[in-house]
Amino acid sequence: MRPMASPSLLSPSASSLLLLRRLLLSRRRRRSSTPHSPPTPPLRRRLPLIAASMSYSSSSSSSAATRDSGSVVADADGLARKVAAISAAGPAKLQVIADFDGTLTRYWYDGARGQSSHGLLRQGNEEFDARREELFEHYHPIEICPDIPLPEKAKLMEEWWEKTHALLIEGGLTYEAIRKSVADAKITFRDGVVELFEFLEERDIPVLVFSAGLADIIEEVFRQKLHRSFKNIKVVSNRMIFNEEGRLVSFKGKTIHVLNKNEHALDMAAPVHDNLGDPNGSTDDYSLVKKRTNVLLLGDHIGDLGMSDGLNYENRIAVGFLNSNIEKSLKDYSTAFDIVYLNDAPMLGVVELASELCP
Ligand SMILES: [Mg+2]
Repeated sequence: MRPMASPSLLSPSASSLLLLRRLLLSRRRRRSSTPHSPPTPPLRRRLPLIAASMSYSSSSSSSAATRDSGSVVADADGLARKVAAISAAGPAKLQVIADFDGTLTRYWYDGARGQSSHGLLRQGNEEFDARREELFEHYHPIEICPDIPLPEKAKLMEEWWEKTHALLIEGGLTYEAIRKSVADAKITFRDGVVELFEFLEERDIPVLVFSAGLADIIEEVFRQKLHRSFKNIKVVSNRMIFNEEGRLVSFKGKTIHVLNKNEHALDMAAPVHDNLGDPNGSTDDYSLVKKRTNVLLLGDHIGDLGMSDGLNYENRIAVGFLNSNIEKSLKDYSTAFDIVYLNDAPMLGVVELASELCP
């Protein structure tokens, strides 16, 4: 949750990106110039094409059916079945659930580790920044310790989050400090995120961005880095209440921490529509979202798969971004996720996938 300096990994090659872009552009041109486009070939036949456009090379060390320098699909048949089922059900049944840090945003920034929405915050009060850092030093080892039983860990995570929130209030965090922190932050969206959001917005497909961070910061990142908003995006995260002087006084709803950020959070979080210029939004939005039983889930940790807990989904395609420790984690990731993108890949492969789901 805090910025760290790490050696840079290889980013996807420029030629891979170019090929992907060409692929996307040629499809767009085809769609706009021919009112009756020919039927698209089944995904099973096209997956190698997508992979080929990302510098395909086979590997004997993995059971993955499709492996290349940019992505891994362990079970192409299983994925093709899910794509066919979701595509047949139509966009009205689909929702996208996305993690924010390291998923919508890039892992690397100018050759160094980018900042998270938590890590970027400078309270404008060094003493309180230091006290939050002390909490990190104490609780982060607990967060990543595999030996602590989950119920106990969840309690401790809640404790950490509540202490942190209390320090933000006590230290007099202002909205202006958030604005400045975001402006100074080393944080950026993956290439292709805007294309993905536009594609989904055109088809009225909701995107729930789940984060254990702070909704107000995430929305400020959207404002400053994308310079626009999308009516289909809802941020489900911890939301602040500011007084008339712009000073933080409390938080809305229950605390969403790293171990409970899932669709149950929709029931306990504060309304998410009111900060996004959606005056007609209501809690009915949530029940409508829950009727969308096909899910495209985007995450960068295996724990992100839990974001769809609480939703009785029929089909779920899980896309994982494996940003670091690739050799060590690839096996687990390619088992857990239907598609794994490597090396801080752009979002363009997901745009392509979305166009398969909503042809
Ligand atoms: Mg993340």
